[in-house]
Amino acid sequence: MTVADNVRDVAGRISRAAARAGRRVEDIRLIAITKKVDIDMIREAIEAGVRVFGENYLQEARGKIEAIGHGVEWHMTGHLQRNKARDAVNLFDMVQTVDSLELARELDKRARSAGRLISGLIEVNIGEEDSKSGIRSGELLPFLNSIKELNSLSIRGLMTIPPYFDDPEEVRPYFKMLRELRDKANNYGFPITELSMGMSHDFEVAVEEGATMVRIGTAIFGERRKIDVEK
Ligand SMILES: *Cc1c(COP(=O)(O)O)cnc(C)c1O
Repeated sequence: MTVADNVRDVAGRISRAAARAGRRVEDIRLIAITKKVDIDMIREAIEAGVRVFGENYLQEARGKIEAIGHGVEWHMTGHLQRNKARDAVNLFDMVQTVDSLELARELDKRARSAGRLISGLIEVNIGEEDSKSGIRSGELLPFLNSIKELNSLSIRGLMTIPPYFDDPEEVRPYFKMLRELRDKANNYGFPITELSMGMSHDFEVAVEEGATMVRIGTAIFGERRKIDVEK
């Protein structure tokens, strides 16, 4: 299977899952996660029609983004330290991992001084796992309130990495919780729409539960090389 075969296969599975849920396939974007994936394979994915890429490590992303450019969209999908906010604003179109007020304020400040707007998703630790970053569900409304005045950071929605289960059906309740959390924020007047949820082994369930972005690595590029990447 080539990268192009995999992209076609994943796209087909997304559209079948959308059809099952009565959703429009245009409302779901495929984010190809390219951590530890080399530039040639990213180019193959672009050839196959992928338009959005997610990187987890700033150092690793920099070289790839400089080589490939901004004809495609780049999202930061790994944990971002506050002192890297300026670099992130320069490199990425969206930071999917806004997980603290301090980071939100720093991204806003850096975007303002760069004269641009940065898009963001709030990362929610939906399973309340100690090992994961993200705010707790109960913190979302106060968080959204606190960042209302930030004009250079545009929060578009929520992102989550739910607990892992071998059976994707067991993840479904967590995807549903994220969707309900977004709907609640909407009811309180916060116009967020995006739900970034679902990875290679569970994206079909995520699409059925309302994902607007699925983040796919392995199902497109194969198993990642087990190399250490400098963060
Ligand atoms: C690695 C990663 C993915 C993709 O995982 P796969 O199981 O390879 O599809 C998605 N989201 C985040 C945040 C990741 O770090």
